[in-house]
Amino acid sequence: MKQPVWHWLGGMALLALSLNTWAADKSIHQGIVDNYKAEKVSDHVYVIHGPAGQPSKENQGFINNPGFIVGDSEVAVVDPGSSAAIGRAVLAHIRKVTDKPVTKVFITHIHGDHWLGNQAFKEANADTRFYASAGMIEEAKNGAGDSWVETMNTMTENATAGTEIVIPGEPLSQDQAIKVGNVTVKAHLVEGKAHTSNEVMFEVVEDKLLFTGDTISNKRLIMMDEGSFPGSASNAERISAMDVKTIVPGHGATGDKAIVTAYGKYMSTLYSAVKELRETMEAHEMKPKVIEKLTDSKDWHSFDEILGKHISLAILEAEQEDF
Ligand SMILES: [Zn+2]
Repeated sequence: MKQPVWHWLGGMALLALSLNTWAADKSIHQGIVDNYKAEKVSDHVYVIHGPAGQPSKENQGFINNPGFIVGDSEVAVVDPGSSAAIGRAVLAHIRKVTDKPVTKVFITHIHGDHWLGNQAFKEANADTRFYASAGMIEEAKNGAGDSWVETMNTMTENATAGTEIVIPGEPLSQDQAIKVGNVTVKAHLVEGKAHTSNEVMFEVVEDKLLFTGDTISNKRLIMMDEGSFPGSASNAERISAMDVKTIVPGHGATGDKAIVTAYGKYMSTLYSAVKELRETMEAHEMKPKVIEKLTDSKDWHSFDEILGKHISLAILEAEQEDF
């Protein structure tokens, strides 16, 4: 009499196992779905504002500001986050707002916290087109894609495991306009370096809104290892001259041009302070003097942890400028 029960249990175990495997393949960052909102920031644009900090086991890699643009017939995503699981959570938020197909994904730059979520949109719609600068595409193909997957797995203790890179296939040209249904998205390529190389900012023309990527962050210091301090300041000036009113930064709250001015001021003040101080003192002596000049930024997130690093990087950049 017991045998059929065992068969039944065995069958259930197998079913559970296969459901588990399926769940592992299509895992979703449920915390983003449950604890975050897609905030409507303009007529057609929603942003899920990520938490401050570095990718970790706790946040499962979620630190950026994924956004989406809802046109009359289709939807586009900007920077879908650090992993396939995060991308699926972004898609779940889109589905709370609209059932229109997601057809386009726009990527601001090479850093993995912005684009490794692409996989979720390819698996949801094989025809999705992924846009980035030609330089970003080149970097991703030349190993940066794989190394970002590894970095993210290490930093999150494998919370992002299973993510496969989907490298954008649509290289953008300067001022290229792309329709998302009745909405126009215009690509602004950043020449030289700001936060890193090969960056693109995306203007949602009808909404007078700009996705800046990490060329701007709002009240937080972020890594500048591959960036330029004067390049960031001059890019902030370029944004200030644009006909936009809503600014969606790569990290931190959405705001207006005041966040651009504040970020540009941080970059230019830090750089000129370092250039001046290096004539009379060593790097390790500069920090208190630089802080005196950065009173507007001293409450920003990660200021204490990252400022020293920024000073060292700014010294290197100033030395390179000498040659
Ligand atoms: Zn970045």
